[in-house]
Amino acid sequence: METVFSKIIEGTIPSRKVFENERILAFYDIEPAAPVHVLIIPKKYIASMNEVAPEDLPLIAEIHSVAKQIAKDLGVAESGYRLINNCGPDSGQAVPHLHYHLLGGGKLGALTG
Ligand code: 5GP
Repeated sequence: METVFSKIIEGTIPSRKVFENERILAFYDIEPAAPVHVLIIPKKYIASMNEVAPEDLPLIAEIHSVAKQIAKDLGVAESGYRLINNCGPDSGQAVPHLHYHLLGGGKLGALTG
């Protein structure tokens, strides 16, 4: 399915990349909600966390590993950061391609629900 993120993966929409390998891409969010706001996505199309299959679990584990490395590289590993996945309408998920928000670089607001 074509989304803004598939276009970023293809390169038809530009992005400020912070990490890329064969399976994963990370880039700065266009509307940052914190001083550091990076989106980490699988290149494989997965609509949301609801569609993560058992065979995707190594990929999800790798995303966490990449998040940890990005936090270190961007200098927020020690000060602290948050890794968020929005899934479905009530969460506000706007882009139907699995993604994780890495937020940090300052005191983050309390989680609300
Ligand atoms: P969601 O609300 O789906 O969890 O988050 C989607 C995120 O994608 C939002 O934070 C939004 O700012 C970001 N976003 C939407 N379009 C673009 C884009 O074209 N480029 C970048 N870098 N981020 C985008």
